[in-house]
Amino acid sequence: MRYYSTNKKSNPENLKYAVTKGLASDGGLFMPERIDGFEPKFFKNIHRLSFQEIAFEVAKKFFGDDVEEKALNELVYDALNFDCPVVPVQKNIFSLELFHGPTLAFKDVGARFMARLLSYFLEKSDEMVNVLVATSGDTGSAVANGFLGVPGIHVYVLYPKGKVSKIQESQFTTLGKNITALEVDGTFDDCQRLVKSAFSEKSLNEKLTLTSANSINVARFLPQAFYYFNAYARNGHKDKELVISVPSGNFGNLTAGLFAKRMGLPVSQFIAANNENDIVYNYLKTARYEPRSSVQTIANAMDVGDPSNFARILDLYANSHSAIAADIKGYRYSDEQIKETIKRVYDQCSYLLDPHGACGYQSLEAYLNDKQVGIFLETAHPAKFTETVEAVVGAGNVPLPDKLAEFMKGEKKSIEIDSAFDSFKSFLLSQ
Ligand SMILES: *Cc1c(COP(=O)(O)O)cnc(C)c1O
Repeated sequence: MRYYSTNKKSNPENLKYAVTKGLASDGGLFMPERIDGFEPKFFKNIHRLSFQEIAFEVAKKFFGDDVEEKALNELVYDALNFDCPVVPVQKNIFSLELFHGPTLAFKDVGARFMARLLSYFLEKSDEMVNVLVATSGDTGSAVANGFLGVPGIHVYVLYPKGKVSKIQESQFTTLGKNITALEVDGTFDDCQRLVKSAFSEKSLNEKLTLTSANSINVARFLPQAFYYFNAYARNGHKDKELVISVPSGNFGNLTAGLFAKRMGLPVSQFIAANNENDIVYNYLKTARYEPRSSVQTIANAMDVGDPSNFARILDLYANSHSAIAADIKGYRYSDEQIKETIKRVYDQCSYLLDPHGACGYQSLEAYLNDKQVGIFLETAHPAKFTETVEAVVGAGNVPLPDKLAEFMKGEKKSIEIDSAFDSFKSFLLSQ
């Protein structure tokens, strides 16, 4: 399979290139040149398959041309060593829990898959790949843990000193092995600028192979389609139309759902649930895409002012606003509304939402009619946002899962750097 650039100013490339480079040479995002669908009978029997079996069938459609079947099977089972269950919250609303992986957020799925796919391509060479990732908290932990101990790869996590929570910091500073945490004296934007400059600096790229591991990478983005198929399989109300709501920031997660629909998955409607960063919400209403600086909210993994995967959505729908607005409905919520929902659902349904999932849940309450059933993506465990959630439901009501407690016990190791590009560059070259 070849992958073309959304900017269409560079030549299509193979999967290995797309995964190791991340971005196309014209700065666009890679898209697969074909989206192979399933026959309707696949969906009749899908409930008999496990999550991992479903994921393997979907993975073959994306990566079957480029990865031998046996290796792909091992890769899927090794990456997905946890489940993504569908759990009832209200009579017609269900939670697709994506937080049962090592760092308790949905990014584990894509990060673990990408690490293994990259390693598969590297096995045949003795190349060493350096993954650079700037994080405001969650991405760094998923990527660091996904790539931990994977041969041929070294990960550098850049994070703003003093600006991530202790829980988040412990998830990428205590690992050791092939993970180096760089504590940058600056902001998240400084971290992102250092990483971007590194990718475009010629002399550095002549000496080192550098790649990114955010959702612009096809190997992180496409595997997110797996759990949409699992949501459909586990849904016990197949007589009703299925509505899926996705708490969205950079829109990688939702775009993977749109791919699943294109492959035949019977979803009648997608919802993009935003916080106050409502750029796509406005686009859906007005057909004008007006990116702007992000504002800080309590659903901070969705604080994005110019969603990187929006280019993929435009490409998938050939720039048709009406086609996009037909498949995706938009909702947006303030911090106050998010808190109110967390409290209400905790009191009435005994279900603990995290601030991101709360946006997804709330939009289903607003949208659903009697002929529909809704599933929202619960993108992280509420304990990742303990302070926010406990302020709403009361201290001591958000138990810390064992996996998070383990991270907190580890010893922090990080290297402090200033935010000047030259310091970062000489650091990389000295490694
Ligand atoms: C990253 C993240 C999101 C946003 O996902 P996108 O794919 O960027 O839209 C939502 N919730 C949580 C908890 C996240 O970590």
